[in-house]
Amino acid sequence: MTIIPSTALPPFSRVAIIGAGGASGLAAIAQLLDKGAKPDQIVGYEARDTAGGVWNYDEDAGQCNVTWAEDGSLALRTEAEIYDAGRNGPNAIYDGLRTNLPQECMTFRDTPHQKGTETFPTYHQIASYLQNYAKDKGLLSLIRFKTLVRQVHHTPDTTDTSKRWTVVVEYVDVKGKLVNDLQYFSHISKWIS
Ligand SMILES: Cc1cc2nc3c(=O)[nH]c(=O)nc-3n(C[C@H](O)[C@H](O)[C@H](O)COP(=O)(O)OP(=O)(O)OC[C@H]3O[C@@H](n4cnc5c(N)ncnc54)[C@H](O)[C@@H]3O)c2cc1C
Repeated sequence: MTIIPSTALPPFSRVAIIGAGGASGLAAIAQLLDKGAKPDQIVGYEARDTAGGVWNYDEDAGQCNVTWAEDGSLALRTEAEIYDAGRNGPNAIYDGLRTNLPQECMTFRDTPHQKGTETFPTYHQIASYLQNYAKDKGLLSLIRFKTLVRQVHHTPDTTDTSKRWTVVVEYVDVKGKLVNDLQYFSHISKWIS
């Protein structure tokens, strides 16, 4: 099989990577850097306090609260998440889980798992792998952890293309105050459902 190199980046000024701590978000940031994007053109947003995405299992996430937003969308938030920003939301990972794919199929091409890793690693090994990848590739400084994206607005007709996307984020500041902030981007890359 021939792997055809992906095309060069189209011109852009600033991109938001939403869900930056998961495997997909980390790969998106690494690819952007690899294709020549400057670090100050990339802002990753990650609700949790660490990389690893779904592989971060929180055994003490508490009850899950269900609310409906005005637009009819469903919001699920665990007690841990509500009272301690950065902790896990509802999570499909469970204690004792191992991968159902061989680890050789679950690597970034340039970063194999550590020598000696079993064929079907634990969820914890995958979380560590992703965290190490983020650290070794220098991605952590481009990600705003403990920052939840609340809304995204698209204004495709704006004349200022650097403001085509408005991202509304929520985080707790150093004084413990809940802050809502607006940020503008020319492009977004969304890795959450
Ligand atoms: C039980 C289970 C077993 C699995 N087993 C395998 C397997 O063996 N092999 C395999 O290849 N895949 C497996 N998967 C699939 C797994 O989903 C992928 O491997 C991969 O980790 C998905 O990465 P992702 O980045 O797309 O999503 P996630 O890992 O879900 O990352 C999304 C990130 O977005 C963040 N986020 C969500 N909402 C917001 C918001 N509003 N604002 C800011 N940040 C936000 C989350 O905190 C999270 O860090 C399994 C999944 C499950 C649930």
